[in-house]
Amino acid sequence: MQPTQDFVTLSRQVGSPDADLVILAEGNTSTRADAASFWVKASGQSLHEITERGFVQVAFEPIVAALQQDLQDAEVRALLESASLVKNGARPSVETFMHAWLLQLTDVNVVIHTHPTDCLGDLCQTTPPCWIEERIFPDEIVCCGRKTVWVPYEDPGLVLAKRIAECVTAFMSEEGEVPKVIALQNHGLITLGTTGAQAMAATRMAVKAVRARHQTVGITKPLTSQEIDRIHVRPDEHYRQRILWGNSAFLPSTDEGSRSSQNQQ
Ligand SMILES: [Zn+2]
Repeated sequence: MQPTQDFVTLSRQVGSPDADLVILAEGNTSTRADAASFWVKASGQSLHEITERGFVQVAFEPIVAALQQDLQDAEVRALLESASLVKNGARPSVETFMHAWLLQLTDVNVVIHTHPTDCLGDLCQTTPPCWIEERIFPDEIVCCGRKTVWVPYEDPGLVLAKRIAECVTAFMSEEGEVPKVIALQNHGLITLGTTGAQAMAATRMAVKAVRARHQTVGITKPLTSQEIDRIHVRPDEHYRQRILWGNSAFLPSTDEGSRSSQNQQ
């Protein structure tokens, strides 16, 4: 088995030098393979030039179960090898744990993790940047949601995955929906999508919104919470999302009843 060509193409776009989202072997992408397994970038691969052989198929169950355990580095390495379904010498990315946990959220089929230059300066500060809580233009709300999840710095790998799970769970219980963008302090971004196009739109729009703020430092006018809520639920924005992303899943609901039903893992 191999990952789809669309997913490989998406991963190469994430690694494109023009996008400035990652360099060298930075970043990783993942997608569901079937109910029991997923594809994730192999450790050390450059996304820019990646092919089907640059991904490893990994079983969900032992990787997700590890989030309940305290494992030493050697145990983590052994687990990543044993959970790989094809033994061809390629080792799954150290961030496989967070990919597995996030891919099991409702309607999440693709996860993109990047280190965008435009965002890193803001992320390498002692406090969360304003764009975690604020939104400044409508398409930022459409592509990135009303708010972004903030994750304080943790050691990459299993420990970081546990912290992400904790922060995303708290976000979903507060916001009533799965997030689109997760910001990692001193590290980078994660975006989630039902489709690759959706996850990529969230990444590109998050970077654009950060760049726009850098042009208006000190005089930025954030949208009010009423303005944000209006964009988040208006039907014509949902129509545009369906056209852009090719499906109706992963959209915000317009009433509290269906909202709570989306709050699942
Ligand atoms: Zn990273």
